[in-house]
Amino acid sequence: MSANGDNKREVDLLIAGAGPAGMTAALVASLEGLDVLLCEKSDQVGGTGSTSAGTLWIPGNSQSRAAGFNDSAEQADRYLDALIGENTNRALRDAFLQSGPNVIDYLAARSDVQFLPCGKHPDYRGNMPGAAVSGRAIVPVPFDGRLLGSDFDRVRPPVPEFMVFGGMMVGKADIPPLIGRYRSIGNFIYSVKLFARYALDRLKYRRGTRIMMGNALIGRLFYSLRKRKVPIMFGARIVDLIGDRSGIRGARVDASGSEIIVTTRKGVVLATGGYAHNRRLRDAFMPSPVPVHSMSCEANLGDGIDIGRRLGAATAPEKGTSGLWTPVSVVPRPDGSKGLFPHLVLDRAKPGLIAVNSAGRRFVNEAVSYHDFVLAMFESHKITPTIPAWLICDAAFIAKYGLGVVYPGHRNPGKFVENGYLVRGLTLDELAGRIGVDPVQLRGTVDRHNKFAETGIDVDFGKGETELNRFNGDAGHAPNPCIGRLVTPPFYALAVWPADIAVSTGLATDADARVLAGDGKVIPGLYACGNDMASVMAGSYPGPGTTLGPAIVFAYRAAMHARGLQRAPQADPLA
Ligand SMILES: Cc1cc2nc3c(=O)[nH]c(=O)nc-3n(C[C@H](O)[C@H](O)[C@H](O)COP(=O)(O)OP(=O)(O)OC[C@H]3O[C@@H](n4cnc5c(N)ncnc54)[C@H](O)[C@@H]3O)c2cc1C
Repeated sequence: MSANGDNKREVDLLIAGAGPAGMTAALVASLEGLDVLLCEKSDQVGGTGSTSAGTLWIPGNSQSRAAGFNDSAEQADRYLDALIGENTNRALRDAFLQSGPNVIDYLAARSDVQFLPCGKHPDYRGNMPGAAVSGRAIVPVPFDGRLLGSDFDRVRPPVPEFMVFGGMMVGKADIPPLIGRYRSIGNFIYSVKLFARYALDRLKYRRGTRIMMGNALIGRLFYSLRKRKVPIMFGARIVDLIGDRSGIRGARVDASGSEIIVTTRKGVVLATGGYAHNRRLRDAFMPSPVPVHSMSCEANLGDGIDIGRRLGAATAPEKGTSGLWTPVSVVPRPDGSKGLFPHLVLDRAKPGLIAVNSAGRRFVNEAVSYHDFVLAMFESHKITPTIPAWLICDAAFIAKYGLGVVYPGHRNPGKFVENGYLVRGLTLDELAGRIGVDPVQLRGTVDRHNKFAETGIDVDFGKGETELNRFNGDAGHAPNPCIGRLVTPPFYALAVWPADIAVSTGLATDADARVLAGDGKVIPGLYACGNDMASVMAGSYPGPGTTLGPAIVFAYRAAMHARGLQRAPQADPLA
């Protein structure tokens, strides 16, 4: 990077946004020998990515293949044909499927960004041709944050609801030994080791340094960038581009109140995380009623999309949904603020829980993917108010499986009634009265569902019929791992709302993540990836890792394209 005075810089590639997409683009560009500047609006790296589960959907990945799981791009292509149909952008999809495994291998071979196969992790529409039960999802290898030293504070932490003791990350695999810590010596030793490591961490760090999932992905990307000494400018917000539709020559960056002009030899990558917190773009793109909650990083104000559109860039997809959704419950925090808990995989599929609308009727197979659950909320809401919907269960369910932030075996679920998180009734009639639902209808719904628990067949919605349902159910429960009776008082209700975990409408690009103008022509030197880029899945949600997989693949493709891009020398844009 060359500095031409205090407020001027010149680099090959400027990347805006240090989430998974921007960090990957910066890392690959640096590995390829480009002179890179990564500017990040906040004072931490990670964005939404650092609070995510960190799963990547990469069909045919070699990590899974080495572990004995067979899959191929062709199989995934069949699945996406069935799922997305004619809305598919064929060039983007081919690029994603063909380069996905190589991108992951490239990162693993040349950096500390390493992945593990998830093994069994079913696709979300298992009844469609080409869907897989295993072999497509990978997760980052857990990371030791101590390797970052004082830079560890620069890694955006997970949301508090995903940590215990105010700062310890717990993975899915940690939950059974922690909950059963007094049940076996092995569990006890495992738990003591976790607590001891955490206690030691807290002597030096603000939170536990044993990080995993999305936080590990960010930790690994950051560590790799630091090792390569890639400059990261914090508190630096891309404001506008320099150039026009015939070519981008740089950008204006607001660095803590001072304007910096960055001229670029190869281009600018927009990776500012999409429009989730931009009210105007939510109103324009999202279904009505526009969801009021978002799990996206609050800095994601649609800057990249606005900047691109000002220059004449097109947005897509025009069809499909504009968000990727999860039901969330609203958690009152001790300090008076409110958190959001995403009901992704832990409770909805378990036996003994139903979801009802305001009429007290079920409207969905509760064990479908979080995205499909919210699509069903939208659909049901057209006829009967279903926003919020209610998750209903009994005391035995909470004790065994937990509900939202109430973890299994919690000694005092009453605490969550007192703070307003849960609603409780000694009878179903009392519960119905408390949530404003017709008691006769709610009782009827529960009675009908309890009969399904005996036969194991949910004749209304088919709960427990797909691999995904059963994967998140309770394998030890028969005859159907996802259906159980609600009979043990008191009964509980928890309101859930739609929230986006990612957005799918973004800047239209070609297969190398080059932004397209409204006339379909490439805007030379302008790239978009992550949630700033129109989703290759066109708003569909095929399986675990639907946004991070493409974010990383297209970030790589953008950097590789920029490396190869030869442009004629430009006149000084500031002259
Ligand atoms: C609870 C949860 C779980 C999830 N789990 C998964 C999962 O397992 N798999 C999956 O595929 N997806 C998952 N997601 C979604 C995934 O996290 C996002 O799709 C992904 O992080 C998007 O990456 P990004 O780089 O585009 O944006 P982000 O990760 O949001 O990063 C954007 C960055 O840009 C910065 N920025 C914003 N504006 C500017 C500007 N003007 N200039 C400079 N910087 C700017 C922001 O501060 C931020 O650091 C999950 C999301 C949530 C909330």
